[in-house]
Amino acid sequence: MAELKRLSESRDLTRIERIGAHSHIRGLGLDSSLEARDASEGMVGQLPARRAAGLILQLIRQGKIAGRAVLLAGQPGTGKTALAMGIAKSLGAETPFASVAASELFSLDLSKTEALTQAFRRSIGVRIKEEAEIIEGEVVEISIDRPLSAAAGSAGPSGATAPGKTGRLTLKTTDMETVYELGGKMIEALGKEKVQSGDVVALDKASGKVTKLGRSIGRSRDYDAVGPHTKFVKCPEGELQKRKEVVHCVTLHEIDVINSRTQGFLALFTGDTGEIRAEVREQIDTKVAEWREEGKAEIVPGVLFIDEVHMLDIECFSFLNRALENDMAPILVIATNRGITSIRGTNYRSPHGIPPDFLDRLLIITTQPYTEDDIRKILDIRCDEEDVEMSADAKVLLTKIGVETSLRYAIHLITSAALACQKRKGKVVEMEDISRVYQLFLDVKRSTQYLMEYQSQYMF
Ligand code: ATP
Repeated sequence: MAELKRLSESRDLTRIERIGAHSHIRGLGLDSSLEARDASEGMVGQLPARRAAGLILQLIRQGKIAGRAVLLAGQPGTGKTALAMGIAKSLGAETPFASVAASELFSLDLSKTEALTQAFRRSIGVRIKEEAEIIEGEVVEISIDRPLSAAAGSAGPSGATAPGKTGRLTLKTTDMETVYELGGKMIEALGKEKVQSGDVVALDKASGKVTKLGRSIGRSRDYDAVGPHTKFVKCPEGELQKRKEVVHCVTLHEIDVINSRTQGFLALFTGDTGEIRAEVREQIDTKVAEWREEGKAEIVPGVLFIDEVHMLDIECFSFLNRALENDMAPILVIATNRGITSIRGTNYRSPHGIPPDFLDRLLIITTQPYTEDDIRKILDIRCDEEDVEMSADAKVLLTKIGVETSLRYAIHLITSAALACQKRKGKVVEMEDISRVYQLFLDVKRSTQYLMEYQSQYMF
C-alpha cells in the first residue's frame, strides 16, 4: 500500500512528460446538450467529429460501449490523438489515458501480445480507498519537550524539531479542542512544514504525515508569530473535521510492475518494465477483485489510444477482439490515415487494413482537414500553452505556413522560433524568427522536393 501511495503521488509528473503536445486539451469542449462549441477546453473546430465523440461519451456513461471500439479515420494532424484525449479528459481527471503507436508494439524485447497487454493495463485505473484517520483543524498550540532551533522560542512555536522527540499539540477541530501526544514521525513532519499556531493542518495519525492546508482567520487568538508575509487563507468550515478515507489512483500496469521486480518502482520511470509473468498478473487480478468485493477498490476504465492501427497484424486484431469482451476493458480508440490496404500478415485487403470481424465492432468517426481560421486558433492556444509571446504579424505568417505545410509542422516551429528569439535577446517572437526556423527546418513537402532533386546522391 505504501508503494501505491508513493506512486499515485508521483504519477502526475510522468504524465505531463508523456502528453506535452496535447497538454492544452482539457475535454471535448461540448455544451450540456453535447453540441460542440467552436473553441472550448482547448479544442478548436472539427465540430462533427467532436459531436460524435460526445455521443460516444454518453454511451460510455450509460455503460453501453462494452464490446465496441471507436475508429478515428482521417489525415495526419487532424486531431485524432487530441480527440481521444478529449474523451478521456471528459470522463474525469482520474481517467487513465494510454497512447501507443501500433508499430511500437513490435519490438525485440517484448512479444506483441505482452506489449498489448501492458498497453491495456496502463489504461485501466484502480481507485484504492484506504482507511486512515486524518484529523484536520487549527493548531492552537504546539509544545515540544526539547525544541532545537532558536526560532522555536517565539510566540507561535515554530515546530523546528527533531525526530524522536515527543510533544503536545492542541488542535482545535469544529466540535472540540483536542490535545494530541505527538510521535517522532509527526514532529519531524511538523518541523519540515514549519507549522505554527494558527495554521490549519491535516494530520494522518497512521503515517505521521502533516499537510499544511492554510491559515485560519477571524479566530479568537492574536497570533504574534504571524509575519507580514504570511498569507491568510480562509479555511473552509468543512475542512475542520475528521476524515477517514484516503484515495489513491494507480493503473493495473503500475501495480503489476511494482510487484514484479524488486526495483519495480524505478522501472516505471525508465519504461523498461520487461515481460511480466502471467502468475503475477493473476495474483494482482485476484487481489483487486478481493478489494472490489470488500468495497476497498473500484475499477476506473480509461482510454487506450492505438495510432497507426493499420500496422497491427491479424494476431493483434484477434487479441483485441477478445480483450474487448473483458469486464475491465478500457475504452479502445484506434486511429488510422490509411484507406483500403492489406491486412498485415495476410494477403487480404480491407478498409483501413482492419479485418472485417473487427471492423464490425467499430463506431467510425472521420476527421477533416482544418480551415485557416482553425489553424490560427490552435496556434494561438499552443503559444499560450508554451508561454511564447508572438507578434500578430508572426502569427499570420505561422498560420500561412500551417496552411501550406501541416498543422504539426507549424506547432513545432513555435518552440524553435522562441529559441531563435531568445538567441537574439528578443522578448516577442517576430516574423524574422519564424522565417529563420522555417529555413532551418524542412517540412515534408520541401524535404521530398530536396530528395527528388538530389536522389542520385542517396542510397536506393
Ligand atoms: P497523426 O495521424 O499523425 O497521429 P493526429 O490526427 O493524431 O495525427 P494530433 O496529433 O491530434 O493529430 O494533432 C496535431 C497537433 O494539433 C497536436 O498538438 C494536437 O493537440 C493539436 N490539435 C489537433 N486538433 C486539434 C483541435 N481540434 N483543437 C486543438 N488542438 C488540436
